[in-house]
Amino acid sequence: METANSRMAGQYDVVVVGGGAAGLSAAVSLGRALRSVLVIDAGEPRNAPAAGVHNFLSRDGINPTELLSLGRDEAIHYGADVVDGEAVAARLTGEQRTTAEPGTAAQPAFEVDLSDGSTVAACRLLVTTGVVDILPDVEGIRERWGKDVLHCPYCHGWEVRNKAIGILGSVPMALHQTMLFRQWSPSITLFLNDIVEPTEEQWEQLAARAITVVEGKVRSLDVSDDALAGVVLESGKVVPVDALVAGPRVEARSGVLESLGISTVEHPMGVGRHVEVSQPGGATSVPGVYAAGNVTDLTGQVMASAASGTMAAAAINADLMLEETTLAVEAARLAVRM
Ligand SMILES: Cc1cc2nc3c(=O)[nH]c(=O)nc-3n(C[C@H](O)[C@H](O)[C@H](O)COP(=O)(O)OP(=O)(O)OC[C@H]3O[C@@H](n4cnc5c(N)ncnc54)[C@H](O)[C@@H]3O)c2cc1C
Repeated sequence: METANSRMAGQYDVVVVGGGAAGLSAAVSLGRALRSVLVIDAGEPRNAPAAGVHNFLSRDGINPTELLSLGRDEAIHYGADVVDGEAVAARLTGEQRTTAEPGTAAQPAFEVDLSDGSTVAACRLLVTTGVVDILPDVEGIRERWGKDVLHCPYCHGWEVRNKAIGILGSVPMALHQTMLFRQWSPSITLFLNDIVEPTEEQWEQLAARAITVVEGKVRSLDVSDDALAGVVLESGKVVPVDALVAGPRVEARSGVLESLGISTVEHPMGVGRHVEVSQPGGATSVPGVYAAGNVTDLTGQVMASAASGTMAAAAINADLMLEETTLAVEAARLAVRM
């Protein structure tokens, strides 16, 4: 497909690092704006272990891989290049407004290095690399993650409604999760796990909501016929549950941003580390570098992540338009003087 700016091989208006919901949504918007776009994707979206994407209007329950495959097709339809690969670092190549002719496009200002040794150039950079979920150290949790070990009531609550749901005391948010999941089931068990210590007021709330509280450290999960059957305590006691809520610590995948001097900060909710951006649009502290999706918003679901990618695309397009207008004005003035 023809884009407004003709590019040399390996040069793009925008390079998007990360092809999940945020990155692909941005690529669709930028492609529709006739921008040349490259999406580099390592193929490990956060929700890959789950069977379906829920709370997603019009495609509720779609397999996460299928959703991204459809997203790739749409981005490619609008002219984006999408490659499987990993970006390892990026750097500023400086102000490169060397030519000034009417209609001249913005010049590449960044280079992105891929793990295969190749390098691509971009006028603007959008990082949508998502997060890593650091799971509690309990034997068996990783294998059941996204199946019957859960973290988000809006993603999975309906699927486990009215079942026996355990809440693992693993993060400061555990008591909040406990009270929240009570909306989906009358059978809630909070495992204190030698980590959570309810206040007097919280004990009263737990009792009033008929929530069972189990003391003692959790050792492992009891799994039978590829399904969670219970939680095993250090004492050897097994408490039957159908699902376990285990809040992870969430860390932004920030390697590419760090290489540009953009650091993560602790999230105000205490759930992990994220990259701060200005909203709307996702501009980082480095001009020309944008971020969207979970890497900035640790609690955003798929729709919110896609929306932030779309907003970032609009901000980037406007940013490029301003640079191109400036170039065009300089060129027009030059033409009058000659
Ligand atoms: C188990 C589980 C179930 C979930 N279920 C739901 C649900 O039902 N509904 C819902 O709305 N939300 C759900 N979520 C949340 C959902 O996963 C996120 O909202 C969404 O994935 C965020 O999209 P993103 O594009 O920001 O990041 P991701 O989807 O994680 O995509 C980031 C992409 O960037 C790639 N990447 C990372 N680093 C690099 C690099 N250096 N170079 C190239 N590529 C890179 C990754 O491989 C990945 O493909 C769930 C989350 C989990 C953990």
